[in-house]
Parts: sequence; C-alpha cells; structure tokens
Amino acid sequence: MKKHWYDYLWIAEIVYLGLGMFNILFAWLGMVFFITPLVVAIAGGGKSYCNRYCGRGQLLDVLGGKLRLSRNVPPPAWLRSKWFRYGFLTFFMAMFGWMVYNTYKVFSGMPLRQAVSLLWVFKLPWLWADVDAVAPWAAQFAYGFFGVMLTSSTLGLATMALFRPRSWCVYCPMGTMTQGICTLKHGKGIGIIGRTGEESGGTAETAGQRESAADTLRAD
Ligand code: SF4
Repeated sequence: MKKHWYDYLWIAEIVYLGLGMFNILFAWLGMVFFITPLVVAIAGGGKSYCNRYCGRGQLLDVLGGKLRLSRNVPPPAWLRSKWFRYGFLTFFMAMFGWMVYNTYKVFSGMPLRQAVSLLWVFKLPWLWADVDAVAPWAAQFAYGFFGVMLTSSTLGLATMALFRPRSWCVYCPMGTMTQGICTLKHGKGIGIIGRTGEESGGTAETAGQRESAADTLRAD
C-alpha cells in the first residue's frame, strides 16, 4: 500500500512527548491534537482525523500491531459500553476543567505548582523545567496539560498491551466527542464514515463496529 506523509504522524506523537520531557512549555503544542479533531468534525470532515491523521492512534498501531506489544484480544464489553465511554468522557472533561481552574488560580496570584499529575493521582515533581520565559499561568497550564497527555498516553499503552492495539480508541474522549458531533450533524451511522479497509479505527458507535475496526487495523 502506498504510504502518505500522514502515515508517519506517529513520529510526531513521540517527538511531542519527548519535547515535553525536555521543556514542559512544549505541552502547549498538544492543543493541536485537542482542537483539530473537533474542528475537522464540526467542519464536516467526519472522523477523518481519527482515520488518517491521529499520531497517537498510529503509534498504538505501530507498537501493538507491528511490534506485537499487544495481547491482541478483544476489549471487554464494559470498556466498549456507552455508559463507560460517556462516563469516561465526563470524568476526563471534569479533570480538564479542574486543570483550567488551577491555571486560573495561578493567574489570580496563587504560586506555580511545578508537578505533572499522572493518572490524576500521582504527582510527579518536574523541577528541571525552565519556565521563566512565560507568565506563571501559562506554565501552570503546560504542567496540567502535559499531565493530561501523559495520562491518556499511559492509558492508551496499557489498554494496547492488554487488549487490541487501538483499544484506547474505543473510549478516547476525543473519539467520543467527534463521534457525538458526527451523529448530531448527520444522524446515526455516520460514525463509520471513513472506515474503509485502508483506514484506521477510531471510535465506532457499536461494539460490533469497534471490533471490525480493530480487525481492519490488524489486517493493515
Ligand atoms: S479515537 Fe482518539 S486516539 Fe483514536 S484515532 Fe481518534 S483521536 Fe486518535
């Protein structure tokens, strides 16, 4: 199959995480991964971000599929259920809102907290970062947002190892949101637009579709 430039966006995901380790301020770049799928879905591009341009999804494919770091077994039914996906989205967005609130508190005069939160529980001290170049609130947002990205990457890798390579896509908040936007715009069934044999999985509205998407990925 002919390769396109966007087939290598998994490298951008690795570079992003590496840059964030080097200097936390690079975490801001992750907003591109956050906003682009929503803009694409709202603009009528459906799930094309998930299907083609998501570096994280591709990276899970590379690690779990090509490098065989995945058990490659179907994710459990509860992980694919609607209540879990929308429940996780709600929890994830609540944590995101809390992160934005902490940014606001630093903007209002609270001292900067130089730590990255992993899995919302573990506070990793991140004292080597040089953040003097920016306002404290901008640095606080970078710490918080990098924690969001590290946490989602960790969950993605864990579910990749335990289940199928792209099991994270089953409950990824961005995938759930773009799925919701597509459904609102076009009605039921649009969620599988773009799920052809040469495209990646992303999220699908039903467990069956998710399964076949994962199967498609393995076939690639
Ligand atoms: S569901 Fe999430 S991780 Fe998967 S392809 Fe879409 S945006 Fe990327």
